[in-house]
Amino acid sequence: MAEFDLIELIRARCAIARDDVRLGIGDDAALLAVPAGQVLAVSTDTLVAGVHFAQSTKGYDVGWKALAVNLSDLAAMGATPAWATLALTLPQADAAWVADFADGFAALAREFKLALVGGDTTQGPLSITLTVHGFVPEKAALRRDAAQIGDAVFVTGTLGDAAAGLRCLDKHTTAAQRTLATASTMRESLIARLQRPTPRIAQGLALRGRARACIDVSDGLVADLGHICTASSVGAEIDLGLLPASPALFSLFDADARAEMQLAGGDDYELCFTAPKANATYWLNDLASSGCGATRIGRIVAEPGVRVHDSAGNPVAIARAGWQHFAS
Ligand code: ADP
Ligand code: MG
Repeated sequence: MAEFDLIELIRARCAIARDDVRLGIGDDAALLAVPAGQVLAVSTDTLVAGVHFAQSTKGYDVGWKALAVNLSDLAAMGATPAWATLALTLPQADAAWVADFADGFAALAREFKLALVGGDTTQGPLSITLTVHGFVPEKAALRRDAAQIGDAVFVTGTLGDAAAGLRCLDKHTTAAQRTLATASTMRESLIARLQRPTPRIAQGLALRGRARACIDVSDGLVADLGHICTASSVGAEIDLGLLPASPALFSLFDADARAEMQLAGGDDYELCFTAPKANATYWLNDLASSGCGATRIGRIVAEPGVRVHDSAGNPVAIARAGWQHFAS
């Protein structure tokens, strides 16, 4: 299959009509109309085979995840998704793989009425670069630099599931985990969290005007909350005992493994945000009714850095803050 057939295959499978797409795939550039009173939120992420996903990962899962991790960035800005461009590098013109990829991408794109408006298709080692565009009123954007001393720190959903899913794929499971009656369903639920993350778009929108600072947890809670702290010139204290865990994580892993995965596992794609504690109580219910609630896990303090303590108040050592490329 040649380049233009691949592009047509992708275009056909990802077709979504939007009035603000004045000209989509097929010309030298797309022509797009930004709504009055809003600014564009733009974010790019690359997934490289063998680094971000195993070479053997199904095309559908790669397509889904490529979009999910990008939408997660829009969610963390409080933006509404609108458009995407896709730079696809493929070792060969494998039509079946590309169709599967496009279906995974389109399944999530449809949920958010996101239109694929352009891209580039090249030959080389498998790699996917996606740029997403969303809208947000400038003053409502959830930035990293807005945390204030005394804010409570929250996180949506549960932490550590994707890291646990990766261990399940690695067959890194103990005899106890294998023999537990419900273990296989639980393992599947963790693997699904790794391969088909849910971008917290509705929650990001619900946090407009409520959260102060916000980030999505992609590299690990401590690392990403650290970015909020650096940008806001503050520090944070986290109570390990408050970190939300899924039933599967809780059942299959011991306390030490859970702590490591929840603090530094990464790939969670939950939102970590700060907000004044006093008025949070009433709107946290709203957030829960958006389909995914949030849990208070700590607070913002003056002393720089992120510190974790257990329920007894003892400091918890963090072996590995989070994932970094080029780290030695
Ligand atoms: P040009 O040579 O002008 O850059 P291309 O031949 O690369 O154009 O692409 C033709 C059209 O197809 C363009 O509108 C481009 O945005 C779109 N396109 C190319 N690859 C992809 C892709 N992987 N996904 C979506 N659109 C694509
Ligand atoms: Mg081109």
